[in-house]
Amino acid sequence: MKSIEKINFKGSRVLIRVDFNVPLNSDLKIIDDGRIIAALPTIKKVMLDGGKVIILSHLGRPKNSFENCFSLKHLVPRLSALLNKAVIYSPDCIGKNVLETTYKMKNSDVLILENLRFYKEEKKGDYNFAKQLSKLGDFYINDAFGTSHRDHASTSIIARFFPKKKFAGYLLNSEISTLKNIVKKPKRPLTAIIGGAKISGKIDVITSLYDFVDNLIIGGGMAYTFIKAMGGDIGNSIFEKESLPIANTILEEVEKRTVNLILPVDSVNAVSIKNNATSNISNIKEIPKNYIGLDIGPKSILLFSNIISNSKTIIWNGPMGVFEYDAFSLGTKKVADAICLCTNNGGFSLVGGGDSVAAIKKFNLTKKISYLSTGGGAMLKYLEGGDLAGVNALDC
Ligand code: AMP
Repeated sequence: MKSIEKINFKGSRVLIRVDFNVPLNSDLKIIDDGRIIAALPTIKKVMLDGGKVIILSHLGRPKNSFENCFSLKHLVPRLSALLNKAVIYSPDCIGKNVLETTYKMKNSDVLILENLRFYKEEKKGDYNFAKQLSKLGDFYINDAFGTSHRDHASTSIIARFFPKKKFAGYLLNSEISTLKNIVKKPKRPLTAIIGGAKISGKIDVITSLYDFVDNLIIGGGMAYTFIKAMGGDIGNSIFEKESLPIANTILEEVEKRTVNLILPVDSVNAVSIKNNATSNISNIKEIPKNYIGLDIGPKSILLFSNIISNSKTIIWNGPMGVFEYDAFSLGTKKVADAICLCTNNGGFSLVGGGDSVAAIKKFNLTKKISYLSTGGGAMLKYLEGGDLAGVNALDC
């Protein structure tokens, strides 16, 4: 991956693929602009050089045509304020009009194109769509770590049209070098904490972590499938029937290895997902009928916190419970606190994934984590040893 550091983009049209997939509220106002802030250094570098910035991004999951709630025009006021410059908005991302607009741009202008995913060709990695996008720029920079594991038109295919003129932006570079350092030379003990609702999306990462981490903590909704596989009573807790065989295989495999698999031992349960619902705490294998396990209990908090505080490197993806509700947020909060303590004592912490990052922000702990990744899926894919299509495309 070539860096943009030593390149001067003066007078050139520079396509920057960013990940501006930010959450919007019902008034279409940005709830969290973290992903925009993260891309600013690259955008500002090109502006300062006197390059013409052309921003490519997706937002949300549109079907395959314009949908107002996914329009990137809603980001224009915030981006303009952050750059202290009126950002130009293009209602399309390909075609004659956009091309003309790019030729009319002055040095240091910033143009944001409409949501790439209004075209189904984007996700399909369509060659002709990528070719049309490529005509809009003289250089291509990928700074969208959050989508770098996707083989989409704007994240990988487009790079073919810029054989010697493709670069990694500052954000992509810093995310990849952080991950590289962890994978190559982790300070040990190394603990991975995997949580969230389902196992199915995270099986590959769990299995690829066996021989890499010292401790593998599993919490959140996915823990209940393991408990069920072990013959526990999990009441009405979330569990994936189809994942029971793989949960069993994982339990058998870790027995044969040195990795220490740690599951919760107790559970905070309630009759429904409401803050004031009737609740109790039980052994995780003895959840009463009609109760749903919604958070790890106090014994699990202690168990997990001890392991975390004795670690030198922590990787965290996925909350320990339904942290969006205060009644079920303590486990996630205490795990986050333990990670911060470990970081404060000289450990390295990497937190990635929308919900874990949201939890860190909710608890005001952002500054106490070594590295907050902008991409959960991409981070897991990298840790799995998998290929990041967007990164590979910059190298060939
Ligand atoms: P994921 O996208 O798989 O990382 O899942 C994140 C979601 O998992 C969050 O919205 C949490 O509310 C949810 N979650 C965590 N623990 C549980 C649980 N015990 N039961 C149901 N959902 C959970």
